[in-house]
Amino acid sequence: MPHGDLIQADLPFLRGLRQDLHAHPELGFEEERTSGIVASLLEEAGLDVHRGLGGTGVVGTLKVGEGSRTVGLRADMDALAMTEVAKRPYASTIPGKMHACGHDGHMTLLLGAARRLARTRAFSGTAHFIFQPAEEGRGGARRMVEDGLFDLFPCDAVYGLHNMPGLAPDEMAVTVGPQLASSDTWRVTFRGVGTHGAKPHLGKDPITAGGHFLAALQTIVGRVINPLQPAVVSACSIRAGDPRALNVIPDTMEIGGTARAYTAGVRDQLEAEIGRLAHGVAAMFGIEADYAFERRIPPVVNDPDATARALRAARAVCGPRVVTDFEPSTAGDDFAFFAEAAPGAFVWLGNGPAVDGALHHNSAYDFNDDAIPAGVAYWVTLVEQELAA
Ligand SMILES: [Zn+2]
Ligand SMILES: [Zn+2]
Repeated sequence: MPHGDLIQADLPFLRGLRQDLHAHPELGFEEERTSGIVASLLEEAGLDVHRGLGGTGVVGTLKVGEGSRTVGLRADMDALAMTEVAKRPYASTIPGKMHACGHDGHMTLLLGAARRLARTRAFSGTAHFIFQPAEEGRGGARRMVEDGLFDLFPCDAVYGLHNMPGLAPDEMAVTVGPQLASSDTWRVTFRGVGTHGAKPHLGKDPITAGGHFLAALQTIVGRVINPLQPAVVSACSIRAGDPRALNVIPDTMEIGGTARAYTAGVRDQLEAEIGRLAHGVAAMFGIEADYAFERRIPPVVNDPDATARALRAARAVCGPRVVTDFEPSTAGDDFAFFAEAAPGAFVWLGNGPAVDGALHHNSAYDFNDDAIPAGVAYWVTLVEQELAA
């Protein structure tokens, strides 16, 4: 592994850092302690540091030589609002908050690479180390972009990495094309006329309409979307009436859920079709429907050129243990907003087997410190190859 010995020498520090970050999780846009540690370690390493971009976001810049090419490397900093159940010496010290997606590890890898690259300086160009707040559904990447991330720090390419249970900690997956789906939310409110549960003919029942809507919802994916294009529509919330008033037909029924796609076309279709179904069902029962579709995160689709560069670095680090036909995830990642601004590649780094079946966002999940050497070496190698002197 390139830089293996020297990364090994920094390993005790990085492991300690990772476990300290794990023990002190902070939620999106609240990463005060976390971003403070990130910024001071970048400063200590000799990088130019910009704090407070997009709330708690931090960018560290390392410019070496005369090379004009510039790359952006991204790590996310936020934890999840959930309680850690696993007993480990560095378990979360904050009830109701936990690093259950491995972002503690992502920060550690990128900081390890910044420390190493600032010492070896074996490249020519500019690397921006981007530490974003609020990846978990709170819009941190978008806020950094709106705050001028790429005006202040223009990038010719952007790179992201996420840990992945199921791959070995010295194994990576680098695949061109779709990696993560768009992640949007939708809400439908059926507006009827409430009445006595014994006299439905005197009102307009929104619950029956909602039932028909739910029964038909999966026909969008099953009958409308091209079967060769992946898509997900899920209803995840229902609210109507009151379990203490079982003789009352309520005025309204609210249904909400998520929609996922890998292309702009399918995303447009999902937005239109869920609304069409809601309005159609409402018309069928003579009631009204309000419909809202909120576009939250675009899909992450790896650019061919940036992916080829990422693959070269991954192969230099992991040799033959690089998977190139890895199945995309129907989760989303707001790295998508960075990849809208510059050609991007999002790669997966193994986290070892899922311990006790714990996957991302499980209350027993943990980043695997055995992945630190490969992860740091990937970032270091990527910069040295991307910005070859
Ligand atoms: Zn997550
Ligand atoms: Zn994550």
